Amino acid sequence: MIVTNVCIIGAGPGGATAALQLNKEEIGCVVIDKAVFPRDKVCGDGLSGKVLTCLKKIDPSVAERLRQAGFKLNSWGVSFIAPNRRVLEVGYRPDFDAADLRHKEVPIGYVCKRLDFDHFLVQELKRCAHVTLYEGVAVTEYTSGADGYLVSDGRGFVVKTSLLIIANGAHSSFTKQVAGIRMEPEHYVAGLRAYYKNVEGLHPQNFIELHFLKSLLPGYFWIFPLPNGQANVGVGMLSETVGRKKVNLKKELLRIVAEDPVFKERFKNAQLQGGIEGYGLPLGSKKRVLTGERYMLVGDAAFLIDPFTGEGIGNAMGSGRLAALQAVKAIRAGNFSAAGLAAYDEDIERVLGPELRLSTRIQKLVNYPRLFNLLINISARNKKVQELLSCMFYEVDLRKKLTKPSFYMGLLFNK
Ligand SMILES: Cc1cc2nc3c(=O)[nH]c(=O)nc-3n(C[C@H](O)[C@H](O)[C@H](O)COP(=O)(O)OP(=O)(O)OC[C@H]3O[C@@H](n4cnc5c(N)ncnc54)[C@H](O)[C@@H]3O)c2cc1C
Repeated sequence: MIVTNVCIIGAGPGGATAALQLNKEEIGCVVIDKAVFPRDKVCGDGLSGKVLTCLKKIDPSVAERLRQAGFKLNSWGVSFIAPNRRVLEVGYRPDFDAADLRHKEVPIGYVCKRLDFDHFLVQELKRCAHVTLYEGVAVTEYTSGADGYLVSDGRGFVVKTSLLIIANGAHSSFTKQVAGIRMEPEHYVAGLRAYYKNVEGLHPQNFIELHFLKSLLPGYFWIFPLPNGQANVGVGMLSETVGRKKVNLKKELLRIVAEDPVFKERFKNAQLQGGIEGYGLPLGSKKRVLTGERYMLVGDAAFLIDPFTGEGIGNAMGSGRLAALQAVKAIRAGNFSAAGLAAYDEDIERVLGPELRLSTRIQKLVNYPRLFNLLINISARNKKVQELLSCMFYEVDLRKKLTKPSFYMGLLFNK
């Protein structure tokens, strides 16, 4: 039996980041993943500025190795396209200026296949003196005792741990069975991803594109440019709508690229590579309790995906880091109680709460195309709104900005 203070279930972005932070604090941890890396994960593959910001906070040399890695495409921002096809461009840096070539040297967003990005993080874990990683082990049993949890694969692999960090993604059985958080179709998106080659008309600074097409509302269609002439193309829609309207998302994706007047041109020389794969996006559009006796939930297992943009990697990493910092305090105090760990819930609320609430409001607007068109029109002209959206992709903590009266004055008077 393996004995540890902290056991992390899942080595995706959330779990890996928690382990990197614990390593920095010189706290030993065990990380278990059912997959053997490199492994695929259905995703849009868009890494916002939050990813690099988070890695820099933990270890600038890890951030630098990501910056140098050749498997990704540098991306400078996001284009939101309203139902009336009006475009709002938001740079990942609040000071982005397409005309200023200096920005070409300091991209902070990337698009890269999760096969490569998650493998990169796992390789980083393998460099860590205080992290022990087990790949190819699917945890199936959690038994709580007076002095800790026993975690097992039901086939003889057993870890005894004082504290669990649950980072095993959207289908976490622990989240459902122990934390009591269930999938609610109105707080969950169904997403499909396809890889295409030779899509035309991509943004010169590799902005990722989120299209709110009239024919797909309240769903969205995306094109994210990848290295080697590839693009990640997909659709997402609230599961509640998919069920109620009996939407066949795969048909919708193929219809858009073949029939939409804009996309049929952009895809006329494009080739689909591989299959069209689906996966769920647990949204942070509802506040939930993410802690209990001896455990903390992180990333998708904690339902922390941005309800408007579908961005979850940055939030998974940010929450992983906060969980690790809380774990350090718990170990030092010898206190793994639900009451003690509730400080992690407070951290999540402080750091991600304002942004998730703002995104939830914008997500609801998508149901009202005219209002949504208006919002994009106004935002395209208002620098403060663009700056706010930019911060959502750049810094994890929006709170400071939202509490400054000068920010609201700027919103009103476009200053
Ligand atoms: C279609 C789609 C498009 C998306 N596009 C984007 C995007 O462009 N940008 C973005 O930021 N986010 C996007 N997301 C969200 C993003 O993919 C997730 O938020 C992110 O992967 C969450 O990271 P995580 O570490 O919490 O979980 P995951 O990445 O799911 O990692 C969980 C890990 O746990 C392991 N695991 C699972 N069960 C067990 C078990 N029983 N035992 C041991 N290990 C286990 C898995 O093998 C996996 O490695 C998208 C999601 C979908 C579905």
